[in-house]
Amino acid sequence: MKIAILSRRSSLYSTRRLVEEARQRGHDVRVIDTLRCYMNIASHKPEIHYRGENLTGYDAVIPRIGASITFYGTAVLRQFEMMGVYPLNESVAISRARDKLRSLQLLSRKGIGLPVTGFAHSPDDVEDLIRMVGGAPMVIKLLEGTQGIGVVLAETQKAGESVIEAFMGLKQNILIQEFIKEAAGADIRCLVIGDKVVASMMRQAQEGEFRSNLHRGGSARAIKITPEERSTAVRAARAMGLNVAGVDILRSHHGPVVMEVNSSPGLEGIETATGKNIADQIIAFIEKNARPDHTRTRGKG
Ligand code: ADP
Repeated sequence: MKIAILSRRSSLYSTRRLVEEARQRGHDVRVIDTLRCYMNIASHKPEIHYRGENLTGYDAVIPRIGASITFYGTAVLRQFEMMGVYPLNESVAISRARDKLRSLQLLSRKGIGLPVTGFAHSPDDVEDLIRMVGGAPMVIKLLEGTQGIGVVLAETQKAGESVIEAFMGLKQNILIQEFIKEAAGADIRCLVIGDKVVASMMRQAQEGEFRSNLHRGGSARAIKITPEERSTAVRAARAMGLNVAGVDILRSHHGPVVMEVNSSPGLEGIETATGKNIADQIIAFIEKNARPDHTRTRGKG
């Protein structure tokens, strides 16, 4: 097959691994720098040009679209879809997953476990907002944050009010969540491919930190998950419409709760922690599922 990987750089671990395994399985694979693509969107024959070349003949495209380029990245991916190229994850699904609020609303509609969560922009009654999510301690998040930046634990009512008021001053959308204390600074990353969790790891926050992001100094190890966690992760990926996803779960007193569904999950942490060849399984999934015009997005956007 002829496979395109949309990625800013071929030296990135996940991109490099996908290239390696695709070649290993006998495919013709090429890394395409998403931001360098330009497109003719008005033509009845959609085209993508890259370094002066008209990209044609691709069977599948693997989007590795960073959070900072979601808008342009999903537009390029949509163009591939309109050309009938099979996307590993569809553009609409990526857009859904990138919007924290939209994701939580979709997950909640499907009855998937979530932390009690409030959403606000400029609440006129902060006390009531805090009461709505069960009071202190609470976690307050900037909707736009990533890698744990903009995620604050407020241990008292007063601290919560101050943080919310400060965020309001920034004219930002904010999420207020019950603090899952019992997770004890650990979260579980489930790597979903199709309808299976193929690998899972537990990330533990550094001493004195509640955020387990590896970028914040957390450490990771392979972990066996429960059937309930497994089904939560698979249902969460399906609710987003993602074929491949990294589903982050916390272990709460009221069962597994989903934090986030990631549409371009990094492979380095999970391959290292579990010793599994995830890149190979992703390519195998594409071989099994890629067919021309096999996207619901075609013609819709
Ligand atoms: P980001 O998307 O920026 O990584 P998250 O919402 O995933 O932000 O939060 C970062 C980390 O903080 C999570 O992986 C988790 O360890 C911790 N965390 C976030 N929300 C809660 C919560 N409600 N209760 C307990 N821990 C939380």
